[in-house]
Amino acid sequence: MTRLMRSSGIVALAVGLCTVPASPADKPNVVVLATGGTIAGAAGSDVQAAYTSGQVGVEQLLAAVPQAKKLASLRGEQVSNIGSQDMNDEVWLKLARRVNELAAMSDVDGIVITHGTDTIEETAYFLNLVVKSRKPVVLTAAMRPSTALSADGPLNFFNAVAVAANKDAVGRGVLVVVNDWIHGAASLTKTSTTAVQTFLSPVRGLIGTVAYGEAEFYRGPVGKNTLDSEFSLDGVTALPRVDIIMAHENMDGALINAAAAAGAKGIVIAGVGNGNMTQPALDALAAQAKKGVVCVRSSRVVTGRVGRKVEVDDDKLGLVASEELNPQKARVLLRLALLKPRSLADVQRLFQEY
Ligand code: ASP
Repeated sequence: MTRLMRSSGIVALAVGLCTVPASPADKPNVVVLATGGTIAGAAGSDVQAAYTSGQVGVEQLLAAVPQAKKLASLRGEQVSNIGSQDMNDEVWLKLARRVNELAAMSDVDGIVITHGTDTIEETAYFLNLVVKSRKPVVLTAAMRPSTALSADGPLNFFNAVAVAANKDAVGRGVLVVVNDWIHGAASLTKTSTTAVQTFLSPVRGLIGTVAYGEAEFYRGPVGKNTLDSEFSLDGVTALPRVDIIMAHENMDGALINAAAAAGAKGIVIAGVGNGNMTQPALDALAAQAKKGVVCVRSSRVVTGRVGRKVEVDDDKLGLVASEELNPQKARVLLRLALLKPRSLADVQRLFQEY
């Protein structure tokens, strides 16, 4: 449908009649998995900055947006109720297993996950790699707590349900719907500490947009995902430790060596510029790489790609370049990669393909 047609009230009515299912039996079934975050947060007043994440349960979330029931038959489950700064492997493994169970059910058409904004990009990317289904899995969040003036959670939730219930969302990988934009899990990143318009997909752009439940999709996912992913959580009870260390002026090798001493099987450097760091840091990193720690160069810069052998001789030093993955997502991929022994060339391939 053209933009012009959409702006016509008559067509809007016709679209409503065509797309809003006639009876509950016709509606897609969407399961909502709540994990906490500001979308479930509460403050003492509607105009104060201080608040606590993860205060509102999934039933309250559903009850707060009755309009979403027009889009889908909804039921909710509480997976956790935490600020996503506290996200951890236990919740990740539980969440991923539940998503896979639900997605395998014939009476589930889509899944919405409510989450905090702080680490939503990591959880979305993790699920993108381990969910074995093409059904829509859509994460959403809010920057303002549910009690705030102009809370953004209800409309984000409504839009997330609309995308999860939309057949066109099938096969586009795990999605994140926030502030009218549909992001791919591999692309999005949080760019503002407080602004509602915090999420961008700076390198490759959006998967689509969604306004008041009406979605438009522009393209498919970036990188291998879900059913095409070679990663699986079958038999996995723990993920290997991978640490992120930020590069800076006058950096030495102390934190790199400390990470290895603490048991890190992999280290991701949030490098300056194109994954760079001081010579002493590079020496320490290459020494750890020689001992078998898998070391990846990413960047602290918010957009761009880190390529092999630009200012650093990765071949000689035994390092991996993160390509388009920022440090937090490079860490997720590396943790899954390290579930089995691999050559450095194979780890580099993963960063090129995922
Ligand atoms: N600290 C919160 C969280 O990530 C922030 C938010 O959700 O916006 O859970």
